[in-house]
Amino acid sequence: MSAEEKLQAFMEGLKKRNPGQREFHQAVYEVAKSVFPYIEDKPLHHEQRVMERLAEPDRVVSFRICWDDDKGNIRVNRGWRVQNNNAIGPYKGGLRFHTSVNESVLKFLAFEQTFKNSLTGLPLGGGKGGSNFNPHGKSDNEVMRFCQSFMTELSHYTGANIDIPAGDIGVGPREIGYMFGQYKRMTHEFTGILTGKGMEFGGSLIRAEATGYGTVYMMHDMLQEKNDSLEGKTVSISGAGNVAVYAAEKCLQLGAKVLTMSDSNGFIYDEDGIDEEKLEYIKNLKMVKRKRIEEYTGKYTKAIYNSDKRPWIVPCQIALPCSTQNELNREEAAVLVNNGCMGVSEGANMPTEQNAIDLFQEQKILYMPSKAANAGGVAISGIEMSQNSARISWKEEELQDLLRTIMHDIHQKCAHYGRESDTYIDYFKGANIAGYVKVADAMLAFGVV
Ligand code: NDP
Repeated sequence: MSAEEKLQAFMEGLKKRNPGQREFHQAVYEVAKSVFPYIEDKPLHHEQRVMERLAEPDRVVSFRICWDDDKGNIRVNRGWRVQNNNAIGPYKGGLRFHTSVNESVLKFLAFEQTFKNSLTGLPLGGGKGGSNFNPHGKSDNEVMRFCQSFMTELSHYTGANIDIPAGDIGVGPREIGYMFGQYKRMTHEFTGILTGKGMEFGGSLIRAEATGYGTVYMMHDMLQEKNDSLEGKTVSISGAGNVAVYAAEKCLQLGAKVLTMSDSNGFIYDEDGIDEEKLEYIKNLKMVKRKRIEEYTGKYTKAIYNSDKRPWIVPCQIALPCSTQNELNREEAAVLVNNGCMGVSEGANMPTEQNAIDLFQEQKILYMPSKAANAGGVAISGIEMSQNSARISWKEEELQDLLRTIMHDIHQKCAHYGRESDTYIDYFKGANIAGYVKVADAMLAFGVV
């Protein structure tokens, strides 16, 4: 069988075993598409069924979460933890609270996390979890009661040397604080069982900034490879959450002009550029007041709000999708490229649909997939774990240098496995293979387990 036939047979089996889990199929296909040609001359990887084992999570646990709202009504949600693979270290990956969360979404995220964590060079396995709980419109007390109930169940499966969750969509410092407090209350133990913690109780400097900054460093490194830079470039960003605001901040520091930001209701376009002062306004609006991005146009009246649309229709040179999965389709990719977009670095996980990725590759624009581009967050989470174990706190400058070095190393690994010619690097292929190699080698060393 050719590599292509083996890939098709593998995907057929995967779909049969995981019916209807569209996002999971998509994430596995992305990796398998690069890995099958790479292992064509490596029979051991086939005999040992490495890809089959990687695409079957070590375990998926689901549990009931009961909590009472402010009116005294009993509410019921579902929670999950997907522990995909711990060949190279304890499971590590965020928790997502959003109405769209289901088993397929968390399996895709945990699978992708396995390769991302491998790319960081740190000893971290891959996992992901969350709930279909919707934090929008809930009071702080409701969120607290939900988080306490969630952690009561989750704690059966996690631990500082077993599985160390962090934040993701809908889970920020407030939620991490409530969950950490509950774990400490239940176990009488103060250990680093979560990352993204507040600085007062074992958090790390620059953890909040790390994913967004890293995504921009990756764009910077791809441009540098072509003797270019971000200076003066126009940038479209989607999202206005943790990843998006710090991606915008780093773009400004590197001299780029940020034109757009968005939330799940629409996007704002500011032709004059979102400068530092405007960005502070957005941070406060979205992350402190938890309001809608539309309010930006009330303060900055020249900006335009586009309801129910995504920012990819705005002409830009660089696009940074930083909100959620499948937020950029082929039609939008074509609009971006036709408008002169030369580079995409993914802050969100799997934001680009497969046929849109195909188009970026056909057009040979700079394209860095999420598993590499947004690995800065988990890298600094890994360093938060080290600081917790050693009972020390690193200085900001040390952490900034380390983040820069880790992102640069990831770029180099992706370039190594993705270089097609002197002028084109297929970073998609490079990231998938570079992420796979370390995990596969560890699995082969363990024998059949
Ligand atoms: P936040 O919850 O802080 O922000 C998410 C942003 O995306 C919000 O602006 C939100 O809008 C918007 N959004 C969420 N869902 C949708 C949707 N279905 N359609 C359109 N917009 C949507 O999350 P993060 O910034 O932490 O995460 C963003 C992405 O980055 C996710 O894909 C996450 O997995 C990924 N990521 C995050 C890391 C981190 O360190 N935080 C690390 C690596 C990856 P609204 O306010 O309307 O909900």
